[in-house]
Amino acid sequence: MIVSVTPDQLQNDLQQFVQPLPFLEPLIPTYVAFLRLEQTTAVPPLPVEWLPSEANALLERGIPLLQRDAPPLVLPAMEEVWRQVCDIAARPLEPQAERLRAAQEWPRTQREEWLAALDQYFRDGELSLDDSSEKSLLTFLMVHTWRPFLLRWANDLASLLNDGLWGKKSCPVCGGQPDFACLRPVTGERRLFCSRCDTEWHFDRVGCPFCGNQDPASYGYYSNEDSPYRLYVCNECRRYLKTLDLRQVIGERVLPVERIASSGIDMSALQAGYRNV
Ligand SMILES: [Zn+2]
Ligand SMILES: [Zn+2]
Repeated sequence: MIVSVTPDQLQNDLQQFVQPLPFLEPLIPTYVAFLRLEQTTAVPPLPVEWLPSEANALLERGIPLLQRDAPPLVLPAMEEVWRQVCDIAARPLEPQAERLRAAQEWPRTQREEWLAALDQYFRDGELSLDDSSEKSLLTFLMVHTWRPFLLRWANDLASLLNDGLWGKKSCPVCGGQPDFACLRPVTGERRLFCSRCDTEWHFDRVGCPFCGNQDPASYGYYSNEDSPYRLYVCNECRRYLKTLDLRQVIGERVLPVERIASSGIDMSALQAGYRNV
């Protein structure tokens, strides 16, 4: 599985899915704009030099590497990315455009709350807000604001990871949850992909990677013989996970393209009452 793609490649690759998935067409410029932002943001290196022994000690204790210290807030770079994320999101979300234009100014007008939300999203992966529409919009903005930074740092830390010391339900780099998985060619080993930083890690084939449920009566998958995809669902925690079986695929697949091209599976799962990260 390839985890990186250029914005032009993403645009070209997604065009081939417009016929079977017509709802994708108006969203392609947004996907491409977010990818371009991820790849052009100047992200400073982490302020710490990591020794392999330090990384191993954290992984053995079950601590994701970036969760060792306080969240690495990079200001003002994150403020600028936040403004651009609000701008990109406002283009297809016309009914939300006014809210997004106001949100664009939060690093200045509601600085304390904005910094607290940035910190909370990194630590907890979600925001504690009662209003579900406000929560989903703000979470969406936080996801895309953190992504350029987490992708870069995950890339820098990748060589320090050790599958044998991890195998947990969350990401060994940032602590995020998986939103995609694959089964490797030949061996069928399950690899999970982090929804926040794209890091991949080994996870047992048996059991739900969100709640640990191993009861086959309430955890399993749906598949279709025409498709290399499996949809794993858990009736204990009501979560789902899209999984690409690479044993049924010829050639490489690209993670950013697969995530979007399989969005019909997300819609089916959400309509059936399951939820993603
Ligand atoms: Zn991660
Ligand atoms: Zn579960």
